[in-house]
Amino acid sequence: MPDVIDHASGLETQFTEMAIANQLARAHRTEQRESAHECGECGNPIPEKRREKVPGCQYCTTCQELADKGRL
Ligand SMILES: [Zn+2]
Repeated sequence: MPDVIDHASGLETQFTEMAIANQLARAHRTEQRESAHECGECGNPIPEKRREKVPGCQYCTTCQELADKGRL
């Protein structure tokens, strides 16, 4: 059934292209992202100093450390 195979591989290509576009869009968004006011993990307020020092940060220092260690 060559028709089915062609269709499937076409979908796969489309999906890969979409995934790449999504990744690029996400990377771009992360770059432009503002620092969060509250930690995305524990909800504690993120100190102003940290928000300035780490543009785009989404976690407090404690949770960021855990995230860096891959524990989140
Ligand atoms: Zn936190």
